[in-house]
Amino acid sequence: MSQGNKVVAIAQARMGSTRFPGKVMTDLEGIPVLQWTVNALWDSHGLDDVVIATSTLPADDIIAHYCSMHGINCFRGSETDVLDRFYQCAKEYKADIILRLTCDCPFLDPSVISEVIRLREMTNAEYATNTDPPTYPDGLDVECFTFAALECAHKEAIRSSDRDCVTRFIVRNRHRFPAANLRCPLPGLEKERWVLDTKDDFSFCLEIAKRIGTSTSYLEILDILATEPELRQLNPGIRNERFYEGISDEQLPTRTFTRSQRLYERASQTIPFAAQTFSKSHLVFPPGRSPLFVSHGDGAYVYDVDGNDYVDLVSALLPVVLGYRDPDVDGAVRRQLDSGISFSLATEMEAQLAETLCRLIPCAEKVKFGKSGTDVTTAAVRLARAYTGRDHVLVGGYHGWADWSMSVTDRNLGIPEDVRKLSRRIPDGFSSVNDIGLLPSQVAAIIIEPNGDPEYLRWLRDYCTERGIVLIFDEIITGFRYDLGGAQKLFGVTPDLACFGKSMGNGMPISAVVGRAELMSKCEPPGNIFYSGTFFGETLGIAAALATIDKMERDDVIEHLWSFGTRLRAHINTIVTQLGLHDVVRLSGEAPLIKIDFLGEHKEKLRSLFIEQMAQNGVLIIGSNNLSFAHKDPQLKRIVTAYGATLIAIRVAIDSGSISQVEASAGLPIRASA
Ligand code: PMP
Repeated sequence: MSQGNKVVAIAQARMGSTRFPGKVMTDLEGIPVLQWTVNALWDSHGLDDVVIATSTLPADDIIAHYCSMHGINCFRGSETDVLDRFYQCAKEYKADIILRLTCDCPFLDPSVISEVIRLREMTNAEYATNTDPPTYPDGLDVECFTFAALECAHKEAIRSSDRDCVTRFIVRNRHRFPAANLRCPLPGLEKERWVLDTKDDFSFCLEIAKRIGTSTSYLEILDILATEPELRQLNPGIRNERFYEGISDEQLPTRTFTRSQRLYERASQTIPFAAQTFSKSHLVFPPGRSPLFVSHGDGAYVYDVDGNDYVDLVSALLPVVLGYRDPDVDGAVRRQLDSGISFSLATEMEAQLAETLCRLIPCAEKVKFGKSGTDVTTAAVRLARAYTGRDHVLVGGYHGWADWSMSVTDRNLGIPEDVRKLSRRIPDGFSSVNDIGLLPSQVAAIIIEPNGDPEYLRWLRDYCTERGIVLIFDEIITGFRYDLGGAQKLFGVTPDLACFGKSMGNGMPISAVVGRAELMSKCEPPGNIFYSGTFFGETLGIAAALATIDKMERDDVIEHLWSFGTRLRAHINTIVTQLGLHDVVRLSGEAPLIKIDFLGEHKEKLRSLFIEQMAQNGVLIIGSNNLSFAHKDPQLKRIVTAYGATLIAIRVAIDSGSISQVEASAGLPIRASA
């Protein structure tokens, strides 16, 4: 029994399942499937009442009848507005706390149910579950939430997916409804499928049911699968596949950003420009017309503090290459967390990651880590200066916020004149350092992003070799997106030094400068450069990088990014052609990083309108389509729909002349992907 609050389990059941009609009343070893669910609930701790919530459709009379014959509470409500059915049921049973589950889960574990109930109580969360993220087998899912949260959802939810999926509104609005998640102590079980969705699932359930008594522990089922692993072949499948298919073309209501705006005003009091990163701030996202603060991410999606969900094409400015909360990477980080984070000496993991990078990246013979891209590009430039004894650097694009890099931009305030003089921007059509007023003997390094013409890269390679200039590839973006060995592997051009970061740790801060041993040895004291940092060997980042690279190799992630990007580009091109927008919209870049630019006198207004309209249509993007492994077919559908609606809005704004009234964002991103 619970203390004070009345806790009511509401289990939803209906005969009209599209994939497996009548499944909840199907006989499973002598009793209907729903009785398995009820037995698990009756064996759980902390529940005051158990109710089956079914619809008022005549087809569901059989469920009501069964309940009345077997002493089970039954409530009947709307078939389609399941949120209303739950709300009315919770009201009738005077529930303070609701435990929600579905009756197609015969192997629910009473101890897991009890823990979720207890977790909610102990954390005082508005919502507790074991599915966000899922770490237990599919079929053990339970959710527990307050009546107050259910009441808000019932009052405010207008999207069809919110009415159909009872807790969707609460989960989307995490900023309002603090959440707690119960993790399975055993790794990898989220891939197990013990639910009854399809006929194939039934074969699996039957085999398991034959081998156990009703109301079971998941450990018993694991015992069975340990001796008979082939049972898993009966019902392969992917969790949540159907849900995301369902929402990929759902009509979205107009989005508002009231909480983002309020938070922006609050943060502005203590944080210059109210964010830590230029391209994640109001300087790029038009305030009032797009989100400014997120609450959480999940796979390919992010959620803002107003409860709006987006397919994310920013991907945190590219670190997220597998998706948010990737179970393998997060699992590796958690395991490392149990051993400690930062230590007083080096760890073996450093050598392990360095060896991995040397195996994958053509120019890598030795490796030093950093935390940011700026750490390692700056180390590379210093190494080049030390190695050559020269001072000047030729800079291709954006390589971080250090003095030598920002010197070539107009955002160079605070950098002494003498320092600025040592950096020059590489001009378009560059053919010789003499053309920019330097002698080859003055130039320590040329640093570029290797994302252009491979012919040019080969020419530059020879040019640098002949003149003793160190060639640095900044692969902070291209590395781990073009290829695990970077653009240098893809194009077959090997630099002297290269810098990696961003995608390396799927969001954990970690970067690396790699290169020829002779050059990298210039980091070796005494008498060489100083490159050292308290956090450079921090182990969570290294654990994340090892797990990220491992998964990218195992699951052909690079191949996925290329093929998804190729399909996406074809879709965007078709829309641009249909709308005759070629003169104002330009796509460029390789498939994993397709960039969209706007041209003409209104280009900045067009970019603002683009960001705003894509957000309204459920896609977060600033300029380049930053893909991850979590972007799959349902997300492609949403992205293409959003492009269609957005480019139509752009066509209309141009044709009607209203584009001139659009307010442009205050600043452009330093580069479209960062
Ligand atoms: N190089 C490139 C090509 C980048 O895009 C960036 C960041 N966007 C950097 C370096 C700097 O990385 P960080 O922001 O991690 O310092």
